[in-house]
Amino acid sequence: MEDLSNYPLELTGDNVPMVRFLKVTKRYGDLVVLDQLDLDVAEGEMVTIIGPSGSGKTTVLRMLMTLETINEGVIYVDGKPLTHMEKNGKLVPADRKYLRKARSQIGMCFQHFNLFPHMTALENCMEGPVQVLGMKKAEARERAEELLELVGMSDKRDQHPSRLSGGQQQRVAIARALAMRPKVMLFDEVTSALDPEVIGEVTNVIRSLVEKHNLTMLMVTHQMGFAKDISDRVCFFFDGKIEEQGAPEDLFGNPQKERTQQFLSAVK
Ligand code: ADP
Repeated sequence: MEDLSNYPLELTGDNVPMVRFLKVTKRYGDLVVLDQLDLDVAEGEMVTIIGPSGSGKTTVLRMLMTLETINEGVIYVDGKPLTHMEKNGKLVPADRKYLRKARSQIGMCFQHFNLFPHMTALENCMEGPVQVLGMKKAEARERAEELLELVGMSDKRDQHPSRLSGGQQQRVAIARALAMRPKVMLFDEVTSALDPEVIGEVTNVIRSLVEKHNLTMLMVTHQMGFAKDISDRVCFFFDGKIEEQGAPEDLFGNPQKERTQQFLSAVK
C-alpha cells in the first residue's frame, strides 16, 4: 500500500484551499489517466478545465465525487481529506460511511441531468435535503422555491421533467444540486447535450452563480468563449497533467506552451 505518511492529516494555516489534489494518480490498468496531479481551487474560485478528449478532465470531477478509487495521493476538501480518513493518527483509505458523508460536500451537474422523472421540479429540489440531510419539509420547500427562483424556474416548479425543455431541466438540475448546500459545485459539459438555442439560459445561470454567489466551482467545458468569460482560472489538461494554467486572458490570449497553442488553434 502507498506510504501516506508524507501527506498531512488536514490542511491548516492561512489560505487553506477549498479543494486540493495532492499528487493524485489515477490509473485504469496500465493507462495513467491522472499523473501526480496537483490542483488547488480557492474558496469562491471558478476554475475551468479544458483540453483534448481523453486528457483526464472528467476524471478530475469523478474523483471529487468519489466515484472512482484513487491510486496515489490525497484529495482534500475544506482542509479535510476526502478520499482518506484518519485512523490512529494516520491516513488510511476512506471507508464507505466516511465517503458517503464526505461526498455530500460536493454538488454535481452532468451533461445528462438525470432528474427524478416522477417528481415535479420542486419535489426534485426537496428530495435530497429531506431524505439525506433530514431537513423539515417546510424548510426544504422554502429553500427549493428560492433556488428555483435563482435559476429562473419558479413558474415551472410544479411541472414534471418530461414537460420541460433540456435547458429548463438543466436549470432545475443546478437548483437541485445547490439545494444540498455543497461546498463545491462541479459542472461537467452541462451544455453539450443541449440545443444551441437553449445553451445561453444555462450558461447565464452559471454566470450569475459566479457573479453573485461566492461558490467554489470546477467546470469542464468545450465552450472556450464561455470558459474565457466566466473563469477566474483556466487549466489546460494534457495526458493527465496540467500542461498550462492561468487567468483566461493570459491562457487564451497568450498561451506559452506549444500544446496549448495547438489545442486552442484547433478548437477555434
Ligand atoms: P476527458 O474528460 O478529458 O475526455 P476522461 O477523464 O473521461 O477524459 O478519460 C481519460 C482517459 O481515461 C480516457 O483515455 C478514457 O478512455 C479512460 N477511462 C475513463 N474511464 C475509464 C474506465 N472506467 N475504464 C477504463 N478507462 C477509462
